[in-house]
Amino acid sequence: MRSIIDIVDLSTDEIDALMQTASDIIADPDKYADACKRKKLATLFFEPSTRTRLSFEAAMLELGGSVIGFSDANSSSSSKGESVADTARVIGCYADIIAMRHPREGAPYIASLYAGIPVINAGDGGHCHPTQTLADLFTIYREKGGCNDLTVGFCGDLKYGRTVHSLISALAKYHNVRIVLISPDELRLPGYIKKEVIEKNGMEYVETKSLEDSLPELDILYMTRVQRERFEDLEVYERLKDSYILTAEKLQAAKPDMCVLHPLPRVNEISVDVDADPRACYFKQVENAKYMRMALILKLLAEKDEPEADGAEDFVESELLKCSNPRCIVAVEQELKHRFKCTDKENGVYRCIYCDAKAK
Ligand code: ASP
Repeated sequence: MRSIIDIVDLSTDEIDALMQTASDIIADPDKYADACKRKKLATLFFEPSTRTRLSFEAAMLELGGSVIGFSDANSSSSSKGESVADTARVIGCYADIIAMRHPREGAPYIASLYAGIPVINAGDGGHCHPTQTLADLFTIYREKGGCNDLTVGFCGDLKYGRTVHSLISALAKYHNVRIVLISPDELRLPGYIKKEVIEKNGMEYVETKSLEDSLPELDILYMTRVQRERFEDLEVYERLKDSYILTAEKLQAAKPDMCVLHPLPRVNEISVDVDADPRACYFKQVENAKYMRMALILKLLAEKDEPEADGAEDFVESELLKCSNPRCIVAVEQELKHRFKCTDKENGVYRCIYCDAKAK
């Protein structure tokens, strides 16, 4: 059963095909109006969301399907202590496909092992957010004519911003994409993404603290919110939250055709005086997201009965290895086994198969 947990679960050809389907839906929505008739999407949102949940729901309704689900963990049995695996098994009896958001990293992956129906990760902690990435890529494709030969600046919370992590992994699949990482020291991109995604794929990149100095060279500026909910010490959040504010005045230094993206919600990192600028593409991203989610739902339901290309994932289990990430699903669900994949044989690096954090 095919699920989408991480953007790397899709090949570039598949992403391109999804963009073609999304373009076709935009051109002829009536053709798709009954495409998911009698099918049900379950939206399991254990963490707040406006856009992602409603966008999934709108996507399914526009395909002629229906939607069940919850938008608050307290209204589900997880508040009674039910495991993610059991919840997934139960929902698998009611629905045809699941979109799941969870504060615990790796939770949608666990759900995909037990649901018996496709699971789409709609955001797991600070880990991944693949459908936001599909929206980001489709917006870049529509605005720039493709996703190759670009200088892309990521600005703000690069440490906890899951959309940043997923988009960098996706851009690594394209050609000649240069990355500019703009953040305060405390919010720099995690080392494993630098090493195992950017460097491994031979992408050129720089790290800087200055948005102003970077602006003139960028084709895309991806602004992000400082992720308040991931901070253990709120004083640190308060100190960092206004590190970058893009204003119409600052934007004067940017290329006339640069695109400003933001996964939203914005807090105050983009001043509202930027909204009227034709380079502001963040509301177009919202619209594009719905079409890409429609395309993805269609694809996963169409492939549902196909046998999986390559069975179970290889993993290592050992009493000596434990996941080092306190936000991983294994940190709270005691019955889950700690499992790892070896990502760097030379240096003996093992990463958790659920959340990608290093073993300790
Ligand atoms: N909506 C995005 C997410 O769910 C970005 C954000 O919350 O800052 O990750």
